[in-house]
Amino acid sequence: MRICLSAILCLLFSMVLAQAPKAYLLKVGKLYNSEQNTFIRNQEILVQGNKIVKVGTGLKKPEGAEVINLGSCTVTPGLIDAHTHILYLQKPEEPMEVDILMNSDIERSLRAVKIARTFLDAGFTTIRDLGNSGQYLDLNMRRAIDKGLVAGPRMIISGPILSPEDGQFFGLSLQNRPVIDREYTVVRNVEEARQAVKDHISHQVDLIKVVMGDGRLTLPVEEVKEIVNTAHRYGIKVTAHATYDMLVERALDAGVDGIEHGYSIADSLLDRMARQQVYLVPTIGTYEGYKSYYDPENKRSKEELEGLTSFVNNTMGIVKRAFEKGVMIVNGSDMYLVTPKPQGDAAKNTLEAIYQAIGSKAADALQAATRNAARACGVDGFTGIIKENMRADIVAFDGDLEKDFQQTLYKVKFVMKDGEVYVNK
Ligand SMILES: [Zn+2]
Repeated sequence: MRICLSAILCLLFSMVLAQAPKAYLLKVGKLYNSEQNTFIRNQEILVQGNKIVKVGTGLKKPEGAEVINLGSCTVTPGLIDAHTHILYLQKPEEPMEVDILMNSDIERSLRAVKIARTFLDAGFTTIRDLGNSGQYLDLNMRRAIDKGLVAGPRMIISGPILSPEDGQFFGLSLQNRPVIDREYTVVRNVEEARQAVKDHISHQVDLIKVVMGDGRLTLPVEEVKEIVNTAHRYGIKVTAHATYDMLVERALDAGVDGIEHGYSIADSLLDRMARQQVYLVPTIGTYEGYKSYYDPENKRSKEELEGLTSFVNNTMGIVKRAFEKGVMIVNGSDMYLVTPKPQGDAAKNTLEAIYQAIGSKAADALQAATRNAARACGVDGFTGIIKENMRADIVAFDGDLEKDFQQTLYKVKFVMKDGEVYVNK
């Protein structure tokens, strides 16, 4: 019996030894370097296990490594979407609370599995999920993905959004009001602000998301300051949903790290953002992108479409000026709508809009979705750039992304996350 057991242990041990980490040698036609913001032709990337081991030319293929030919492709670091809500889905015509009233936590979670996969298939290897995820359903999704139970992008999570008493649901009937506390962490005073952050940290969130206010109620500056100071004391960043000037200004007064949306920001506030090194996640879209889900049957009036045009022009103008003033622009889609395309593809419309807004340069748009987004998400120590010792988060697009950005962006040929291949067409 003893001999038998040691023989089995011996066999198991040798099997472990034989399993060297899987290696890949990627042969790349054009490689985007997100630090230098340039494209380089004919490069090779050696991946071993979950890491990039070497980048260069004439690399030696290790024994057993798989060679993948991406000679006709543009290769970038895995894309990052810094503003998602994968546990939430809304039909464009429906009020926000409908999804929560109609779907259980389990249904929302199972649906998120499907949505997460669309982001990975579209080339997003990291997403920052900013709430509307019930009471920490995002935490469970992050664990399921990290454990390999489901395939999805790496998740950076905020937990429930800190908000004023109405959350983002307005005009609810009395019996439906409890849905606010199921979806948000309501902050009523400075004491609650501090406690909310501590509760979130104890649930192991990666950052704090605060809604400055969307309806008649807004969070006073003292409460947001308490949120920021408490979070910073524990080394956690805070990003603020702030849609117009007054709330952007208050968020800056409170010392937040990032502004989400910013559909109206005066130049003086953009200057302040640049000075305070506060990044902007402009969750914008192109006219065609918005129209595809707000008016799929061409039924909107001329006035409504003119309103859409001026919204697109205004928001693109803000992003252009922010970029020129040196505000860090971060890609984040806020794509939570039922759209004709899979969510991951639909999310790319924001990157198209950023591309158009900041001067139609592929490199600048890609930087917003790689290096900048990695910094905003606090993951720049290991992803967002293809270089030695970084995690192997790599995407290949079929064609020349530098010359033909808006079309090639949708032609994903290869996706690797943490050294594992998820798409290889
Ligand atoms: Zn959002």
